[in-house]
Amino acid sequence: MITRRTAAATVLSAATFVSAMAFGAGSASAAEPLPSSGTEYRISSYAGGALQWDSRNAGSNVVVRDWNESSAQQIWSVRDEGNGAWSVKVPGTNNAVDRDRGKNTVGAWNYIGADNQKWWLENTSMGNGRAWLLHSASDGNLCLTRGADLNARVASCDAGDPAQSWNLDRTTGTTPPSANRPTIDLDYSQAPDLGPWLEQQKRTVADYYPTISDLITKGAFGAPTYFKIILDPTVKANPAYTTVRNGVKEIHVNIDYTRGNRNDTGFLVHEAVHVAVWDNPTSRPWWLGEGLADWVRDYNFQPGTGAQHFGPTTTYDSGYQATARFIDHVSKTYAKPDLAHLLNTVNYSDQIWVQLTGKNAQQLWNEMPK
Ligand SMILES: [Zn+2]
Repeated sequence: MITRRTAAATVLSAATFVSAMAFGAGSASAAEPLPSSGTEYRISSYAGGALQWDSRNAGSNVVVRDWNESSAQQIWSVRDEGNGAWSVKVPGTNNAVDRDRGKNTVGAWNYIGADNQKWWLENTSMGNGRAWLLHSASDGNLCLTRGADLNARVASCDAGDPAQSWNLDRTTGTTPPSANRPTIDLDYSQAPDLGPWLEQQKRTVADYYPTISDLITKGAFGAPTYFKIILDPTVKANPAYTTVRNGVKEIHVNIDYTRGNRNDTGFLVHEAVHVAVWDNPTSRPWWLGEGLADWVRDYNFQPGTGAQHFGPTTTYDSGYQATARFIDHVSKTYAKPDLAHLLNTVNYSDQIWVQLTGKNAQQLWNEMPK
C-alpha cells in the first residue's frame, strides 16, 4: 500500500517509517525531507538524465535529457499546493507539469489548480531513501515516468522502477539569463575610416543578439554579454572569424571584405551566433555549428536569402548554407519550430533525425527540393 506524505512535518506515514527502518539502526531517521515550497529544484531520474522543459510557452514538451548543470531548462519551481499535492512549474511562468488524462502524456501547461496538474510525493527506499515517486493527484496509481523515448509520461506506479524514481536537488547556482542586449567594444584603429560603418553595424548586431539567443538557446545556457569586434588586417581568407582571447570573445573582421561589402551585416550576425553559443556545454560537429549560424542569418535575420540549389556533391553535412537549408527544411516539413534550439542544447548524434522524423539525415536531405 502506498501512503501519502503531507506537508505537515509531524505526519510521517507508516510506509516512510518502514522504509527508513529497513536501513537499520543508525539510519532510521534518514527519510528525505519534503521540498521547500516555492524554491527551485533539479529533478533527476534514477534511470539517467534530468527532467527538462523545452520552452517557456504553454504546451512545452517535458523530456529527459543528459544532466546539465548549466541548463536553465532543467530547473523547476516546486510548490506546495495544499493537501499534500505539489505543482512543478517552469520558472518564471505559470506552466506546470500536467498529465493529459486521455493519453497519459505529460507537458507543461497553464496552471489552473486542476488535479491533473498536481502531484503527491512518496519517499521510497531507492538511493538510500532519497528517491521520490510523483503520483498524479488525479489518479494516484499513475506516476511520473521517464519514457523509453525520453519523453515524460505517466504509468502504473512501481516503487522499484528507476524510471519512476526521481531525486529533487535544490539548485545552487543562479539561473543563467537569456541574453540581454550585449556590450560590444570596437577596435577600428587599423582602419579608422571604417569607424562610422562599424559603429552602425554594432548597433544592429547588439539589437539582434537577444533574438539570436531566443532562436537557439532560450536561456539553456548563458550567452556572453560582452564581446569585441576588431577590424584586423591579418584576416585575409574569410570575411571574419570568432575566437577568444584572455577570456573575451572577439570577432576579427577582414578589412578588404568590409570595404567591398558595406551593405553586408549578415556576416557579422553569423559570427555573433558563434559568440552566443561559445560557452555551450553540449557538443556538435563543425558543420552543424556553421549551419546553425547560417540558418540564423539566412532564415531569420535576412529571411528569404538562403541558397536553394545545391550540386550533387553537397549534402546535409556540408555546413554553412547547405546545412542551414536542411535545418529549415526539417523544421518546417516536420513542424519542429524549436529544431535549431534543440540542436544547440543536446549532445549531437545522428540518431536525432530519426527520433524527430522517423527518417535519417541522408533520407531527409534526399527528399529536400533543391
Ligand atoms: Zn562560422
